[in-house]
Amino acid sequence: MKGRKIALVVGCLLLAAGIVYFFWGEDDEVPTQNQATTNWKCDACGHLFKLTDDEFYKELVASPTGNAPLICPKCQKRDAWMVALCPKCNEWYYGIGKPGATGMCPRCSPPPKEETIVDDSGSESKRRTISNY
Ligand SMILES: [Zn+2]
Ligand SMILES: [Zn+2]
Repeated sequence: MKGRKIALVVGCLLLAAGIVYFFWGEDDEVPTQNQATTNWKCDACGHLFKLTDDEFYKELVASPTGNAPLICPKCQKRDAWMVALCPKCNEWYYGIGKPGATGMCPRCSPPPKEETIVDDSGSESKRRTISNY
């Protein structure tokens, strides 16, 4: 009789452990609802706005070219381009999708100028100032 009682208790413990494990396992499978967003800036009025991936897709479908520029929600002009935030100066700059944009921050990574090509001693000092910056 004693052995049967122990077996029953062990059985209950195993069952309880199984239930706890089952519920913990459920908690791990919480789906992430956060949607990725992209940032856009209107070249006509300077308006900055965000689009979720779904909204971005809808705008692309509505665009006659199937690509940027998108319509600015503020001034309704088709002149909104994707932008990225510069980690150095905290300014928004246009990505490579925009004609003439380098895809880099024009303040921190300005396009190379012809002025930098000078004689050896001059270019040496300029290179040093750029790397220090
Ligand atoms: Zn605008
Ligand atoms: Zn910058």
